[in-house]
Amino acid sequence: MTDKGEGSRSSKRVQLFTESVIREMTRLADECGAINLAQGMPDFEAPSRVKAAATKAIMEDLNQYETTWGSAGLREAIAEKALRFNRIQANPETDVTVTCGSTEAMTVSIIATVDVGGEVIIPEPFYENYVPATIIAGAKPRHVKLSEEGQSFDEEELKAAFSSRTKAIIVNTPNNPSGKVLNKDELKLVADLCADYDAIAITDEIYEHIIYDGRKHISLASLDGMSDRTITISGLSKTYSVTGWRVGYAIAAKEITNAIRKVHDYTTVCAPTPFQKAGIEALKLPQSHYTRLAKEYQRRRDFVVKSLQNIGFRAASPEGAYYVLADFSSISAMDDTSFARNLTKNAKVAAVPGSSFYAHREMGRSKVRFSFAKRDQTLREAMNRLNRFAAKLRS
Ligand code: GLN
Repeated sequence: MTDKGEGSRSSKRVQLFTESVIREMTRLADECGAINLAQGMPDFEAPSRVKAAATKAIMEDLNQYETTWGSAGLREAIAEKALRFNRIQANPETDVTVTCGSTEAMTVSIIATVDVGGEVIIPEPFYENYVPATIIAGAKPRHVKLSEEGQSFDEEELKAAFSSRTKAIIVNTPNNPSGKVLNKDELKLVADLCADYDAIAITDEIYEHIIYDGRKHISLASLDGMSDRTITISGLSKTYSVTGWRVGYAIAAKEITNAIRKVHDYTTVCAPTPFQKAGIEALKLPQSHYTRLAKEYQRRRDFVVKSLQNIGFRAASPEGAYYVLADFSSISAMDDTSFARNLTKNAKVAAVPGSSFYAHREMGRSKVRFSFAKRDQTLREAMNRLNRFAAKLRS
């Protein structure tokens, strides 16, 4: 087939964004045989009970479509978890939608609630999917910077970003890529602004259980007055190390949920049936699963942050999630894309160029993001390779 270039056949909307840099780095990592610290996905096993439940479901021939908005059993398990862990009261019949990963939950939530031309506030640095999701919905991204020190909101800037055009704000805590965990005061500020401007909040809480140093995850929807104007998004991927199963969910008041369910139905029909069965088993895991998950990630975090600092990167210790955003300016004067590609090809360690997490792309020019969702031996080998690479660059 002939390639006429992008302009000729693709919609104008689609021309406004590029392919995901994170997924592109994974392909480059595979091509080069590099250790993939780019796309955040574990290389270790998922809990056996959960895997057994998925296998059993397939062997019992649960191979057909589920109820479009999710199996009754999984919705009940999600509502129960939301009450216990997130302090969100959700009716499984009317307030919960199971989706193909939290990625789908985010895209359909924006399409379902924001009119064409409406503004969606996206604090930066942000997980790159939010911008294309907003554009696909025909809406307009509006960015506010999280202040560098502690990566908190700049109150004045956030207030100034809200207007009568604001329809939604995306709130990602723990944050990918910075690891920032929003505290009660920061969430309260968002809640007050949403109320003042009659906007909704769409949260991404996929890293809710990966949180360090005794911090507590707080869901925005649990704050006074927020349950009716918040869509709470999470999923199985990170908590149970099953990113390829594609099971996520959105929790919202009935009226919003009805809109989400309509878009979800016509987009993907339903999330995979056997993995929904396994999700019920996953949500039954004892507290020790969550304690161990956070503890093991904290150990990996400490090792990776210290190693990167010793190699010459400037990197703060993340408060949650499993990424380190590292500044490489004392190792190399390359820009982030050249540095990340060079690292992948020559050091055989893949990372994500920092600029893909910023609308003000220059803010990420001397940064790369490493994921530490890997076995200890994978991380040790990756850090050794980085060390040798940095020494060569400096010599
Ligand atoms: N959240 C993961 C990351 O930032 C990737 C998710 C995905 O690729 N769908 O790397």
